Amino acid sequence: MPEQRMKHPDWCDPARCGHLVPPIMAHMPRRHRGATRRVGEKRPLGTVITYLVSGPDQAPLVTVHAASRVGDVWAELSLPQAAQLVEHLAELINDGMHACEPPRGP
Ligand SMILES: [Zn+2]
Repeated sequence: MPEQRMKHPDWCDPARCGHLVPPIMAHMPRRHRGATRRVGEKRPLGTVITYLVSGPDQAPLVTVHAASRVGDVWAELSLPQAAQLVEHLAELINDGMHACEPPRGP
């Protein structure tokens, strides 16, 4: 059987691609996986890790892992949903920055 050459998306990290290395967890399907981006401290406040995944006939999804004191969970968001998350975060940052403004006048 001739070996079919695997085509990886531009963003796929060969060191992490599920088609080239075993998936991180046994139940994970073999999918293309992009570089990991991490925000936050490991403990106690938690960490958010994001990366891209996709299958042969699947549009890319943004995987968002949250690691906290009580456990680790994740969600796989479509690109429009991930864009919505970015909007929500931008709004929260904006609200938070205004909350930090010093009170005006006497
Ligand atoms: Zn790949």
